[in-house]
Amino acid sequence: MTRPRAVVVGASHAGAQVVASLRQEGWEGEVVLIGDESSLPYQRPPLSKAYLAGKSSLQDLVIRKSEFYDKHDIEVVQATVTRIDRGSRSIVTSDGETWSYDGLALCTGGRARTLDLPGGGLAGVHYLRTFSDVEAIRMAASPGRHATIVGGGYIGLETAASLRALDMQVTVLEAAHRVLERVTAAEVSHFYERIHREAGVQVLTGAQVEAIEGRDRARAVILASGESVTTDLVIVGVGLVPDTELAAQAGLVVDNGVVIDDVARTSDAHIVAAGDCASHRMARYDRLVRLESVPSATEQAKSAAATLCGRERRISALPWFWSDQYDLKLQIAGLNAGYDDVVVDGDPAHGRDFSCYYFHGGRLIAADCVNRPRDFVRVKHTLSKDLHVERAELASLLAT
Ligand SMILES: Cc1cc2nc3c(=O)[nH]c(=O)nc-3n(C[C@H](O)[C@H](O)[C@H](O)COP(=O)(O)OP(=O)(O)OC[C@H]3O[C@@H](n4cnc5c(N)ncnc54)[C@H](O)[C@@H]3O)c2cc1C
Repeated sequence: MTRPRAVVVGASHAGAQVVASLRQEGWEGEVVLIGDESSLPYQRPPLSKAYLAGKSSLQDLVIRKSEFYDKHDIEVVQATVTRIDRGSRSIVTSDGETWSYDGLALCTGGRARTLDLPGGGLAGVHYLRTFSDVEAIRMAASPGRHATIVGGGYIGLETAASLRALDMQVTVLEAAHRVLERVTAAEVSHFYERIHREAGVQVLTGAQVEAIEGRDRARAVILASGESVTTDLVIVGVGLVPDTELAAQAGLVVDNGVVIDDVARTSDAHIVAAGDCASHRMARYDRLVRLESVPSATEQAKSAAATLCGRERRISALPWFWSDQYDLKLQIAGLNAGYDDVVVDGDPAHGRDFSCYYFHGGRLIAADCVNRPRDFVRVKHTLSKDLHVERAELASLLAT
């Protein structure tokens, strides 16, 4: 009798968790993990942090060693999946192989959004998504050289801090009026602008990039203001495009991500999805949310594996995130979208630790905690339990 087969497409945080959880949940059939990168699944967050700063190796990044996959009879295949045939329940890879499946997990994540402007394809223009992207940046990075980072989001700012640790000159160009504008309150943005300037980074806001110039390679970044920033390399961190093409071609419902329900099932009962490629209708927020974070990829992957095993494990964890820059650990609990009020505890204009609490309609919905792990733990616990905290009750929450 042939054993049932689970095929997992995409070998990173979500895919690695799905295969591990399949075995934990008691899947006795074959497990095949197919990814198009050349190494075993590795942790992506350190790429812009310790790994870029030269403080860790690829071996340190690997999520689980090869012995784990051998021990649990998980076949790891390096290939690109090019098509899903839902009728025959099979997938096809770029090298022409066909794998039938009984259950399929899509964990294809996303790719770096590219800069579509003159000079965007010149040598010396880098992106930061994969281990090989960072290898190329590390080859080009050396003390005294000038790196220009396009995008003042978390990845851009973490990259700036890591390159300062390598004694590079660093400029950050942010098109909006403040860094992190899309994701934090002004107090948090201004805090990070100050910290980076104090560390020697040139932070330019309202800086719209129009072109990158250079004959053979990038030599200058041209702004809409006409200003020109001379540079040795450019690193672009302007967001992520979810890899949903396979799902869309197979006719699955896609809405900024492969749409999944509370147990990670897609619009096809035999296919689950998890991680950066997935859009989940979160009851907590009553809308489709596509998160880009390791905790969320892990949570969804556990539910995806349970679903393939015929069990129900609902995706319910509160979204949370972190960012490391210099000596600062930012921990974020909840989603602040739609906030209409903030309360700041601490002195972000001068200090190096504070918490920023976000409210909507008088109710606490999220918090950014910088070097305040106790605040983070309290808020995460409170929001996870859906406890209602009004602005006036914040002090007593913090005192508990
Ligand atoms: C520089 C950087 C720093 C980050 N820092 C943090 C942080 O501090 N905290 C945090 O929570 N999150 C952080 N993130 C985000 C986090 O890494 C992602 O949320 C996480 O990697 C998502 O995992 P995933 O498995 O869903 O997708 P991905 O990590 O994108 O992996 C998807 C994999 O699928 C492969 N793939 C895609 N299509 C195919 C195909 N057709 N066939 C075969 N393989 C395919 C891809 O090559 C890739 O290996 C960071 C990300 C980056 C890039």
